[in-house]
Amino acid sequence: MKYVIVSGGVISGIGKGVLASSAGLLLKTLGLRVTSIKIDPYLNIDAGTMSPLEHGECFVLDDGGEVDLDLGNYERYLGISLTKDHNITTGKIYSAVIERERKGDYLGKTVQVVPHITNAIQDWIERVSKIPVDNSGLEPDVCIIELGGTVGDIESAPFVEALRQFQFRVGHDNFALIHVSLVPVIHGEQKTKPTQAAIKDLRSLGLTPDMIGCRCSEALDKPTIDKIAMFCHVGPEQVLAIRDVNSTYHVPLLLKEQKMIQYLSKRLNLDHLYIKDEIK
Ligand code: ADP
Repeated sequence: MKYVIVSGGVISGIGKGVLASSAGLLLKTLGLRVTSIKIDPYLNIDAGTMSPLEHGECFVLDDGGEVDLDLGNYERYLGISLTKDHNITTGKIYSAVIERERKGDYLGKTVQVVPHITNAIQDWIERVSKIPVDNSGLEPDVCIIELGGTVGDIESAPFVEALRQFQFRVGHDNFALIHVSLVPVIHGEQKTKPTQAAIKDLRSLGLTPDMIGCRCSEALDKPTIDKIAMFCHVGPEQVLAIRDVNSTYHVPLLLKEQKMIQYLSKRLNLDHLYIKDEIK
């Protein structure tokens, strides 16, 4: 199983969901079976009790699970059917750990965020990523995991730590991370500092970006891409420019033009999973 994590910095609502769905769609065009998990670091068990005014309508899955709208995007983009367990929340994780604690499953140990919560998160991800989600009834090849919120928030800290540990649990060839950041245009100049700061935060938490998705109102200039590459310690081919588009269905094309799949394919050693000729 290959895992592609999509996290975000600078601001919320930056387009992580759209990027995650688009990346999944491109991987699916290679003939891979793609599934997805959405992590929402709030304490609610699910989105069913949250005000639609604050959070948008909740999305109802086939199994009755009331979840974040992003899971609707995944189902539409990837042609899959997800379960309520594909939406992990802090509420669900804590509830499961506390239930086990009450049963005495931890055998007298002090139950802590690290390792008990972080282990529960990793076990949950491993278990759910293997659930067949398409008509084939087979285990998926790739799991896209979107980490909601912004890296650096108190709420997302246990998930960031769990993912840090998870990269070693599954191995380098099976774990890639795309961090989405913002490039604001101020007085006509594309500013890279927020992205530099966001990547620094990410690295300080033990996660390394394999690709940096840069949301910008306009197409990124070559010098901007080179500057981000240099200051964020990645190659220019690892910087993805994601400009504002009229329809988010154009985002997969933007990513394809920038050879995202070729990069991920090499990075995750996907060759043996698909027929190489399909990459145009
Ligand atoms: P996040 O997952 O980071 O909260 P979303 O993927 O839900 O963000 O996107 C937030 C909003 O921005 C959505 O309304 C989405 O349609 C819009 N959006 C995302 N990417 C783009 C883009 N490249 N161009 C225009 N709108 C976009």
